[in-house]
Amino acid sequence: MNLHEYQGKEILSSFGVRVQRGIVATTVDEAFKAAQEMTDKTGTNWWVVKAQIHAGGRGKGGGVKLAKSLDEVKEKASEIIGMNLITPQTSKEGKKVHQVFIAEDMYYPGETEVEEFYMSVLLDRGKGKNIIVYSTEGGMDIETVAEKTPERIFTEEIDPAVGLQSFQARKIAFNLGLSGAAFKDMVKFVDSLYKAYIESDATLFEINPVLKTSDNKIAAVDAKVSIDDNSLFRHPDYLKLRDVREEDPTEVEAGEAGLNFVKLDGNVGCMVNGAGLAMATMDIIKLSGGNPANFLDVGGTADAERVEKAFRIILKDESVKAILVNIFGGIVRCDRVAQGILDAYKNMGDSIKVPIIVRLQGTNAEIAKKMIDDSGLKVFSAITLEDAANEVTKALA
Ligand code: GDP
Ligand code: MN
Repeated sequence: MNLHEYQGKEILSSFGVRVQRGIVATTVDEAFKAAQEMTDKTGTNWWVVKAQIHAGGRGKGGGVKLAKSLDEVKEKASEIIGMNLITPQTSKEGKKVHQVFIAEDMYYPGETEVEEFYMSVLLDRGKGKNIIVYSTEGGMDIETVAEKTPERIFTEEIDPAVGLQSFQARKIAFNLGLSGAAFKDMVKFVDSLYKAYIESDATLFEINPVLKTSDNKIAAVDAKVSIDDNSLFRHPDYLKLRDVREEDPTEVEAGEAGLNFVKLDGNVGCMVNGAGLAMATMDIIKLSGGNPANFLDVGGTADAERVEKAFRIILKDESVKAILVNIFGGIVRCDRVAQGILDAYKNMGDSIKVPIIVRLQGTNAEIAKKMIDDSGLKVFSAITLEDAANEVTKALA
């Protein structure tokens, strides 16, 4: 689950990580009040108006603006709230901005004295370790730094069983070229950042930039935070942070129906039970000359209702030219699944305009195939993977 910057900062802050503080606002009026409140709280006289969307690179798209007076806060907030923000990380359609974060300016007074770093904490699955990736080149696109000056990116591996060692935090501060009070504060920053990452069950913390202020304090100016979905059961308070407006509407609808659905950009829809089989099915689609339009795991109960829902979700995508259903009838018998598919098909009447290829394997597969063949509907049956692939190729021809 991805979070907004302001939500990520709240989590960081609760673990003692210093952040650029701010208040979220959904209207220009609220933005104005938030700016006044920030001044009361922090003494700041400049503010940063920051669009809250689930994508980085907001600054580049005009979604992060400095305001040097309360009038400017209103002006920038009215420009940003409701705007369609296009950044290097959004689709070309962009994302609508529903709220802004009114933050204290942390770069004042001497912009020449501040320094921007890059830091992220994530899991390296290959190594089975957490890693802290950091760089002196903060505030810019880290992919560009990786490409042009890879020697400026450092990685520190952390054994999850042992945790972050204090020499590692010192090494990071040293490699970032810090000394004195800034060095000490960076050690503390890294320490609390890692602790926050572990305890919040995050899969990613990306802080770009990490700022060294002119008075040598280290703070997170930006925060990209993702929480592991599988851990949400033990963080009921984080569940409230979900913003479905930022997610793909079809994926949200599928999730509500208990279907595991991920949209892809191919031309063959697929409906499968089990994630492993879904991966194999996507390979079969590739072999048949098509491209998977989605990943869809209907789970264990492929009854008529779920199958119908799944068909409807797949068919929302106009690029779908054929649907491949690949179900292994182990606990659920193939004939029951076949009945579910046929019932769903009949229910949907004319709304299915593309050929459907059904491959059922397992208990009663032969009976299921006969049911489909005898139905008189535009459903093609297969038992082997090869037959299924050939039927898909024919359907796309
Ligand atoms: P992103 O563009 O989505 O990564 O959003 P960021 O939160 O990283 O902000 C973009 C850029 O705005 C940063 O890299 C900074 O250069 C600038 N910025 C952010 N906060 C401040 C601030 O308090 N003062 C000033 N002057 N610039 C800021
Ligand atoms: Mn950033």
